[in-house]
Order: sequence, then C-alpha cells, then structure tokens
Amino acid sequence: MVYEQEKEVAITATKNAAILCEKVRQAKDSQTKSKADASPVTIADFGSQAVLCQALEKCFPNDPIIGEEDARLLENERLDLITHYVQETVPEATGETVKYWINRGNGNIANRYWTLDPIDGTKGFIRGDQYAIALALVEEGEVKLGVLACPALPIKDEIGVLFVAVKGEGTTMMSLSSDYSQPIQANTYTDANALRFIASVESAHSDRAQQDTILQGLSITQPTIHIDSQAKYGCVARGEADLYLRIPLPQDTSRRENIWDHAAGAIIVTEAGGKVTDLHGKPLDFSVGAKLANNWGVVASNGEIHEQVVKIWQEMKR
Ligand code: AMP
Ligand code: MG
Repeated sequence: MVYEQEKEVAITATKNAAILCEKVRQAKDSQTKSKADASPVTIADFGSQAVLCQALEKCFPNDPIIGEEDARLLENERLDLITHYVQETVPEATGETVKYWINRGNGNIANRYWTLDPIDGTKGFIRGDQYAIALALVEEGEVKLGVLACPALPIKDEIGVLFVAVKGEGTTMMSLSSDYSQPIQANTYTDANALRFIASVESAHSDRAQQDTILQGLSITQPTIHIDSQAKYGCVARGEADLYLRIPLPQDTSRRENIWDHAAGAIIVTEAGGKVTDLHGKPLDFSVGAKLANNWGVVASNGEIHEQVVKIWQEMKR
C-alpha cells in the first residue's frame, strides 16, 4: 500500500497531539491570547504544532510543513509551560527545540508538503466543545492522506475519534481510547426529510442568509447541527450530516480559506464517498499557497445532493 509509513507517522503524531490538547484542557492551563487577526491561540495550539512537526521532521526531514501557528508570538514563560507538556511525549524537548519545531511549520508549499492545524476550532476548544487536530499530506496539489483527531466527538460509547483517509483506500474512523475501528461511508439518500445540515458555531465563518436560501432550495427541514472545527467533515463522512457549507460573508470579498482548515477534512469526506468542491463546483486546488486562492467557499456533501447545491447557489448569485 502507498503512503503506509506516512500514515503510521501521521496517526501516532496526531494521537500524541490530541493527548497534549486534552491534558491542557483538563488542567485549565490554556493561557489564551489574541493574535493579530483577533483569533485566539492557547498553549495547546503551540504544543500540538510542536509535537506534530517534531514527528514529521524526524521521519520526513525534507518535506515542507505549512501549519497555522508562529513561534514569534511566544513569550518565555509560556514557552516553559509548552515545553513541559511536549516533554510528556518527546522527553528530549527543550525550549529551543520546541520553538524550532513550531517554526518548522512555517514552510512554503512544494510538489509534496504537509499542512496542519494544531487546533482547528480553538474557540470550541476554549468553550469546552468540539475541536480537531488536522494533518494532511499533499502531492501535486491533491490531498493524498488526511488524519483528523476529534477528541470530544463520540464514537460508540466512548469519546474521542480519529478519522483516517488515504487516496483510493477509503476512510476509517477509530476510537482514540480503544482498538475499535470501522470503515465509514457518507449517506446515499436524497430524501429531503432525512437530510441534515451541519454548520459552524461561529456565525461569522459562513454566511447564514445564503445558507438558509440553499437549505430552502433543498427543502431541508431537520434542525441544523452546530459544531466547531473540521469535526463537521467527520460527521458528513460518517453519515451524521449530509451537507457542510463555507460561504464567505458578502463584505469579505477578499476572503480565501486556509489550506489547513480543509485539507484533512476534504479527503476524509471524499474517500467516504462524499464530494467536496468550492461553491462553483470546482475541485479545491491545494497547489497555490497557504490559501485556497483559486477557490471560492467550500461545499462538502454526501455526494448525492452536490450538483443540486451548486446549482442553487449559482442561481441565487445571478
Ligand atoms: P469553524 O470551527 O468551522 O467555524 O472554523 C474554525 C476556523 O475558521 C479557524 O481555524 C479559522 O482559521 C477560520 N476562520 C476564522 N475567521 C474566519 C472567517 N471570518 N471566515 C471563515 N473562516 C474563519
Ligand atoms: Mg483552523
């Protein structure tokens, strides 16, 4: 099988990052600060990026990594605490190496690269709700491997799920706390009464007026599920929801999505039989940079309703 080593390394690193995030959350040690764009960042975001980049650097030293966080935002006392958490999985970690690993995530895209979000849905992480650790391998502009840890998402009677997808090999979900694992499939029905829409908790992250028009066009009557992070992609992939939309607000004319907010989630949905494109129906193009500059918004669906969604949006925009 292809990408076997990449898959093993990505799964272990993502699990370790999830353990770190949960420890920080349980210890109420988050130490939240605001970034320049007013979005929050905690010590778990930095610790998680360090753990992920350390593992990738060790096994794939030549691969660039494009991650969300930047170590320039760190002060020394926070670096000490982050290093303490990182040492629980990487005992040899020091303040200097932790900084180095975090900065290893500020690479540039290449023919082959990794992209990661150490905590996707930081607002959910802080609120005590859903969040995810997202890691993806991209080659030739296409996602080949995606691993998504959702430490607060249920699976059977446990809490904590890891979604894994490899191009051409399907999607599997596994428990973060036991050996339980199962292949998953998106829904195949189109019955409007059964369709479920899943959306962000944060209303600024997707235009709700346009979303409502699309839901009316599909005659969706089930209540919308609101959760943070790429856990939404996991829910579409395992048939808990049928549609997830990301529609830039009308005033955000220059808004482009970050690659790390979609790469892992997108392959998890497509390998489960669903479909992911932008609002024009164009495939997401991961070959241009840290932003999806060639795409406008995102549509992730069970596949069956995809064309209809794109058509409704296009008609609405006329
Ligand atoms: P979600 O939890 O799905 O709402 O998405 C969280 C992600 O939304 C964060 O990782 C940010 O990168 C991204 N984000 C922040 N501000 C915006 C915005 N105005 N529009 C769309 N996405 C945003
Ligand atoms: Mg994110």
